[in-house]
Amino acid sequence: MRDTQFSSRVITWQKAHGRHDLPWQNTRDPYAIWVSEIMLQQTQVTAVIGYYANFMRSFPTIEALANATQEQVLQHWSGLGYYSRARNLHNAAQTIVDEHDGVFPQDFEVVQTLSGIGRSTAAAIVSFAFNQIQTILDGNVKRVLARHFLIEGWTGSPKIEKHLWQLAESLLPEKDMVAYTQGLMDLGATICTRSKPKCDQCPLNNTCLAYAQNRTKDLPTPKPRKAIPQKYTTMLVILQGNEVLLEKRPPSGIWGGLWSLPEIDMQAIATEVVATRFGLHAEAEEPLALVQHVFTHFKLEILPQPLRLISKPSQLNDPNMVWLPVEDAIGAALPTPVRNILLNLNQ
Ligand code: SF4
Repeated sequence: MRDTQFSSRVITWQKAHGRHDLPWQNTRDPYAIWVSEIMLQQTQVTAVIGYYANFMRSFPTIEALANATQEQVLQHWSGLGYYSRARNLHNAAQTIVDEHDGVFPQDFEVVQTLSGIGRSTAAAIVSFAFNQIQTILDGNVKRVLARHFLIEGWTGSPKIEKHLWQLAESLLPEKDMVAYTQGLMDLGATICTRSKPKCDQCPLNNTCLAYAQNRTKDLPTPKPRKAIPQKYTTMLVILQGNEVLLEKRPPSGIWGGLWSLPEIDMQAIATEVVATRFGLHAEAEEPLALVQHVFTHFKLEILPQPLRLISKPSQLNDPNMVWLPVEDAIGAALPTPVRNILLNLNQ
């Protein structure tokens, strides 16, 4: 039997106290909802708002996104991180144009076949856009459920995740899906927060087991810790006058498809690599301050090595290499640490 108590309290609370004015709310356009859901994965609402407005201005329809180049799409994502999200969004827009006449599919199973759309994101889209009864289970919802029902164990493990999906499904309401789905998201983001949850304001506090047992600090159980490997690289800041040499990264992998600075091993001699790899003669200058960047699976320490050309460069015939004025390079589709290196250079 469904626990309608849980959902009705979430719905009533959302209508009175939830968020109603986010730029992607108050629309039934599946495209607008989809873009917001992808941007909101791993990223806070406050960081997403500006990017979202800019993205929707440049790519107002699925067709506009499908017709854009990958570089244009990545440029709009530059600084937001997790760039595979942008590449998947672009691929999926092209699939919708090619295979669904440019119309976002309504079938829940079909939605999940699109690049970058998992079960929870598909559920959010079809709930908001088509009022379908499907459950979401993102990090915020996992936290609410783990605390409310006192579920021990890391919520990312297959066993606990399976249990949470079953539980989340058993809690679904029969109507008011938009308010319920939004309510779960709002509760997780604003009340049942990772640290210092505001249990006194929570509509679920009279049935929440973690609250009753004073265990909100322990739940959800953290991911078992593994040491994050540290990697090192040297990035070459090759300069001629006010121009810097950028190299495009391979289409997949870390920062796939973005422009970046050429990289070499820490042990390699920068001037020799520049001569053999690019046919350029340059003098090394004092290295810039080390830059630390943390990815999900490793930490990267970057040594930015400036080099100034002492001979005029020959024509670049490689479309994956470009000389750009530093100011223009800063505005290109770059990973954040690379942009910071160039900004540093310009100070
Ligand atoms: Fe989260 Fe506290 Fe609400 Fe329980 S009572 S669901 S811990 S905010």
